[in-house]
Amino acid sequence: MVTMRRIVATATALLLLVLNCRKAEGVQEDPLAREAEEAFVEYLKIDTSNPPGNETAGAKFLQQLLIKDGVEAQLVGSDPNRQSVYARLSSGRSEKALLLLHHIDVVPAVAAEWTMPPFSGARSGGYIWGRGALDVKSLGVAELMAVIDLKRRKVRLKRDVIFLAVADEELGGIKGCKELLEQHPELFENVGFVVNEGGYNETVVDKVTFWGIETSQKVPLWLRLESKGTAGHAASPPDDGGALARLVRAIDGVLRIPMPYRLTPEVQHYFHAAGRMRRDARGEVLRSIAEPLDIKRIESVLSPGYRALLRDTLAVTRISGGSAVNSIPAKASADIDIRLLPGSNPGEMLKLVTRAVGENAELEVLLAGEPGPESTPDTELFRTIARAMTASEPGSTVAPIVQAGTSDSRFFRGRGVIAYGIAPFKVNYYDADSVHATDERIRSRFFAEGVPLVRRIVNDFSAAAPQGK
Ligand SMILES: [Zn+2]
Repeated sequence: MVTMRRIVATATALLLLVLNCRKAEGVQEDPLAREAEEAFVEYLKIDTSNPPGNETAGAKFLQQLLIKDGVEAQLVGSDPNRQSVYARLSSGRSEKALLLLHHIDVVPAVAAEWTMPPFSGARSGGYIWGRGALDVKSLGVAELMAVIDLKRRKVRLKRDVIFLAVADEELGGIKGCKELLEQHPELFENVGFVVNEGGYNETVVDKVTFWGIETSQKVPLWLRLESKGTAGHAASPPDDGGALARLVRAIDGVLRIPMPYRLTPEVQHYFHAAGRMRRDARGEVLRSIAEPLDIKRIESVLSPGYRALLRDTLAVTRISGGSAVNSIPAKASADIDIRLLPGSNPGEMLKLVTRAVGENAELEVLLAGEPGPESTPDTELFRTIARAMTASEPGSTVAPIVQAGTSDSRFFRGRGVIAYGIAPFKVNYYDADSVHATDERIRSRFFAEGVPLVRRIVNDFSAAAPQGK
């Protein structure tokens, strides 16, 4: 009897598996799936590595797709090689507009290290491969399809919907979002909401358990240390050891700056929500985290990714100087990437670094991000996104999160616009590691499922009357 029950259970499980596979294949039958995938693959083939960017090729590609469907789209930006593309579907109504944002540029890729060429858009092994597959051309195509869908179905809108694909996000947004906001404020008239990259999700066996919607992020402070000294033969070094020795002392001083742990209310809320879905030791630490922090336990259980949200971080990312083993250079430099928790004071950190460096180096600020406010999750847009996400994966939960990384959302939050970072595509943790690394890729099936999810979010938040999905 027990055996029989087992056999029946196994047969049922197999049947369910087959049905699930059919269902999964059914997802591919989304009317726009094929079109979205073709556009995505073509977009991946365009090399928009930043530096130098060359976003104009990507901008023109997106512009053509919009124009083909009768959506007016214009190229914007002061640099002919660094264009962004902008399109607005007008509602004729005064409700705050929704801006769908993504960046065209990608981080560079070393082709020799990749399994598939990084700008091939190859379809292989159930994946679509390419630099930008996750960060963030997939989101760009999903947003594009959402706009095209509204236009094709002639949906009556209760608010304007704007599509904006920008240049230069990866290196700080100076030639992209920042420039456009400063020089073309008319493009952003009446914008109240931004949907951008920056969220994340956790999956267990291909099912999402937790969707994080990013509502705030750490603040970048990028510094360069430059040491100078007497150049000369290494057989008779100067007393201070020369420029490189001075630089090493400066870096050593900086690395000794204490980075104490502290828990912000936003991070506590996020960790409690994420911890509820986990049955392991990490889940236990997350869902019970509170001040005073149990540092020993946190350091033994939480990965660096989680811990980065509990303190400011500092990393040495580049060192240069010297040309031969037997000569002392006149100059040497190092770049330092500091990320501050919301609420930390960049001026205070700068003082600490200045003191740590002392006379050993000169300090240059490469980028000082301005601390922006959190985007409150208490909005109709947040609830719309959460509803769509949980509907797409029954049993999953949604919560606001803080990101250690930075995105263009900060420019909008600084101007009082609500900006949310979403991750509409399921990503298994082992694939997530390919972001900014080798073999960046997205599961074809997850891409196909994320496209209608974005469409639903945009439709539900912007359509004047209930519309078909
Ligand atoms: Zn990105």
